[in-house]
Amino acid sequence: LFVANDLSADTLIGLDKDQSHYLANVMRVKAGEDVALFNGRDGEWRGRLDKVAKASVTLQVQSQSRPQTPEPDLWLLAAPIKKDCIDLVAEKATELGISALWPVFTHRTVMSRVNTDRLAANMVEAAEQCERLSVPEMREPTDLAKALAGWDAARPLVFLDESGGGAPINQALNNLQPGPLAVLTGPEGGFDDSERAMLARLPFAVPVSLGPRILRAETAAIAALSVVQALLGD
Ligand code: SAM
Repeated sequence: LFVANDLSADTLIGLDKDQSHYLANVMRVKAGEDVALFNGRDGEWRGRLDKVAKASVTLQVQSQSRPQTPEPDLWLLAAPIKKDCIDLVAEKATELGISALWPVFTHRTVMSRVNTDRLAANMVEAAEQCERLSVPEMREPTDLAKALAGWDAARPLVFLDESGGGAPINQALNNLQPGPLAVLTGPEGGFDDSERAMLARLPFAVPVSLGPRILRAETAAIAALSVVQALLGD
């Protein structure tokens, strides 16, 4: 269970309404049972349920069960796509170890707004489900050009280019030094030529191909992160 509180022995925590409802009514937990807690900083701790009511559950922190481990510094910059698809990307990308999700508007992006609260909640749920000890940062949606304007060149940007102009992703990743990384995926309509030209001018952007078929945007994001995880991940 993800909590905002600092975690140390004997701390008492009152869960919010949604978490209380989930534990009491969906999981049907009972006072005296233990749940696993994490906050992204202090590792995993056992929490003993103290009072269990429908809308209010309290627990007491016991002892640490896993230390906090370092996680990959891996951002996903994703052009917003329709609701079910971006929800899927947020969930699967969390499982595949991203440290931040950054929606970026491109020229052909159709979606005009992004529900970051919903995506953040999806990422919390996915982090709990896959037992990672942190939740990816939900970054404020912005235009692709603005995101790139302040870019730290120490973070290579692996740009999923459906035009076939890039090297196979595994080759490109093998040429990179270990360290911070970002993956950029386009919207349903792909990138336009001016965006490709802009990216080609940036020394930190690395165009890559995922093969000869044009994948759906959500498939491309998940496939690319799977390759990153397989080659570089821990
Ligand atoms: N029209 C389909 C859809 O609605 O999902 C295809 C979308 S595809 C143009 C979306 C993005 O996925 C592209 O901009 C690119 O970032 C990535 N992509 C898809 N196939 C790819 C491939 N073979 N190689 C590299 N990137 C790919």
